[in-house]
Amino acid sequence: MATVVLVTGGTGLVGKALEHIIETEPVGSKYGKRPNETWIFASSADGDLRDPAQTNKLYEKYKPTHVIHLAALVGGLFKNMKYKLTFLRDNILINDNVLHASYTHKTVKLISCLSTCVFPDKVEYPLDENKVHSGPPHESNFGYAHAKRMVDVQNHAYKEEFGCNFTSAIPTNIFGPHDNYDLEDAHVIPALVHKCYLAKKNGTPFIVSGTGKPLRQFIFSRDLAKLFVWMLREYDDVEPIILSVGEDEEVSIKEVTDAIVKAMAFEGHYSFDTTKADGQFRKPASNKKLIERMGSFQFTPFEQALDISVKWFVENYDTART
Ligand code: NDP
Repeated sequence: MATVVLVTGGTGLVGKALEHIIETEPVGSKYGKRPNETWIFASSADGDLRDPAQTNKLYEKYKPTHVIHLAALVGGLFKNMKYKLTFLRDNILINDNVLHASYTHKTVKLISCLSTCVFPDKVEYPLDENKVHSGPPHESNFGYAHAKRMVDVQNHAYKEEFGCNFTSAIPTNIFGPHDNYDLEDAHVIPALVHKCYLAKKNGTPFIVSGTGKPLRQFIFSRDLAKLFVWMLREYDDVEPIILSVGEDEEVSIKEVTDAIVKAMAFEGHYSFDTTKADGQFRKPASNKKLIERMGSFQFTPFEQALDISVKWFVENYDTART
């Protein structure tokens, strides 16, 4: 049977990584394209998924047998806090339209993308797949978090009422080429990469907010892309699955900064502004289920992945999302 894989959000950080993996891994290999497969990477210009008519048109045009649904309104802390209703409503609309179109067009399999931001604020760590709904999310991003949680609720409802093969992935913090480097709105790695770049270019100090001590789990977008391909081929369970490096692979913001300084060959003055807030010290997520299901997975070493990402940013500064 011919397979058509539609990737919504195909032009974003994760979508571009999937495209890279599909284009560079050998055809027929574990993470490569299969000979009978066509992959479509859709952007918002191909159809605004907040609109049911445009979503249906996209499905009618490509007739996807499989969908990896990445499209979302994504933003940093500031934007999430300021536009809570927009984050709630746009993401509810996008997700509802994609899930319903996947049902009406008889899509064989749909994988949607959640985030570890959806987990409860007050929770016992490490996070695991059973804790998604066990308390309210942090109030700073409750719009985004509730919209994403509803995908899991809908996946269960579509399965129970109509037998649909819908599931979801929960990645931790993602970084890689094609990230959003907008200084007002970027996640921590792209924001620091951009700041360091400007400090080097302008001969100014590189000042990092906070103490540098908090720990985070970061996943390289191209590793995440491989895990999505694995899910597409192997994972047929409605329950979500956390896609992350292990808890023992947390890195501190200081380690992130050191790696950026090295990759950027920045030789100027660099320091931490400890008057600025740090955020939560750590919020580890367990990848036990992933490793149990997959057997093993070779994650790209953090420094190597960061080096690729920094070099991409420097080479593509003029066209990157800044
Ligand atoms: P990006 O912001 O890089 O990309 C978003 C993508 O969604 C773009 O392709 C964009 O299209 C598309 N999109 C946005 N709005 C619409 C719309 N109304 N209709 C159609 N397409 C739309 O996101 P990421 O790649 O970072 O995120 C991918 C997924 O991963 C998301 O679901 C996100 O919630 C999740 N995630 C991200 C994390 C991170 O650290 N970045 C962490 C955990 C989860 P266009 O280019 O045309 O604007």
